Amino acid sequence: MDGFRFASSHANARLMAKDDRNRLLELLGSFGDLCGPVGMPGGAHRYQPVRKPSEIAPDCLRTLLPPKKILYPPTDELLEFTADGGFRTKEEATPGRRILFGLHPCDIHAVITLDQVFSGRYDEPRYFARRQRTAIVGTDCWPDEQCFCHSTKTDFVDKGFDLFLTDLGEQYFVRIGTAFGDDIVRAAGDLFRPVEPAAIDLYKERTNRRHAAFSHSVEMIDLPQIFELDYDSQIWENLGSKCFSCGSCSAVCPTCYCYDVFDQVNLDGRTGSRFRTWDSCLTNSFARVADGRNFRQERATRIKLRYYHKQIAFVEQYGRPSCVGCGRCIVACPAEISVIDVLNAIFREKVVR
Ligand code: SF4
Ligand code: SF4
Repeated sequence: MDGFRFASSHANARLMAKDDRNRLLELLGSFGDLCGPVGMPGGAHRYQPVRKPSEIAPDCLRTLLPPKKILYPPTDELLEFTADGGFRTKEEATPGRRILFGLHPCDIHAVITLDQVFSGRYDEPRYFARRQRTAIVGTDCWPDEQCFCHSTKTDFVDKGFDLFLTDLGEQYFVRIGTAFGDDIVRAAGDLFRPVEPAAIDLYKERTNRRHAAFSHSVEMIDLPQIFELDYDSQIWENLGSKCFSCGSCSAVCPTCYCYDVFDQVNLDGRTGSRFRTWDSCLTNSFARVADGRNFRQERATRIKLRYYHKQIAFVEQYGRPSCVGCGRCIVACPAEISVIDVLNAIFREKVVR
């Protein structure tokens, strides 16, 4: 793994005038295809490639789908096949370097989580081919009422980025995370300047104010053990009766990675393509097998599975929950099911008993 792909802890920092943000974005665009949050009618944002820096909405808090979609697309054509058994792996249309701008700490933690998943027992070459060519320029953010990344300890990053910009008002405090980040700074001429002591005070003050701005906290201590004890809780039945099984919570989650694979045969009956698409453990078809039986017929068992996987199974395998506290599933859920409320209810039920 090279320094470009995975940032180590930062050794350097610079200051950059906020008015120079578009200059930085122009510069980043010269290193590769720039992607960032873009505003949509109605006030939502989506994460996508941009043609010019002015398309980027730099103050976006939360995109509908996470930046994960660039590294792990919702639908990916894996190969083309023919009736005689031949096949050809499908390569990406735009295989160049990508610069992902505007990832907040939770989304960077989510990318680190996906790196772990896709480099586990089985390496996922398509993911890593994209990851290898991807640089990350993170930006800090200000929490709203759906954010709880301070509870999941994902509100700060010291790795996983090439550059990271913290808003100090008139200027950005820019942390350099990798050799590639350093290359960008060196190529930037007078865009960056050394850090003055007053900026460090501002940085600390901003960090403290941001930490105090979270309106919710989730009690995560001993949560895996509490989940074990609460396996038969009525909470899951209640959630099952509310959940529509729409799968939106998985679709928007930056750390969900389940997928389905299907073949599509062309009209000639002799050629076709194999696709991989995101899947969701919340949908009725997720655990249905070839003879029609379904191992998770009830909605309550499916929603319970999602929580148990994120809060217990993932901890057992990777040492931490896979939820990064981004709040996207809360915003997306048509049944108004909130992960904050669920986790706090589980915690209260066990502690009060
Ligand atoms: S479970 Fe919800 S809050 Fe947690 S990472 Fe996924 S979308 Fe974000
Ligand atoms: S978004 Fe809400 S309603 Fe839809 S599957 Fe998830 S929990 Fe159920």
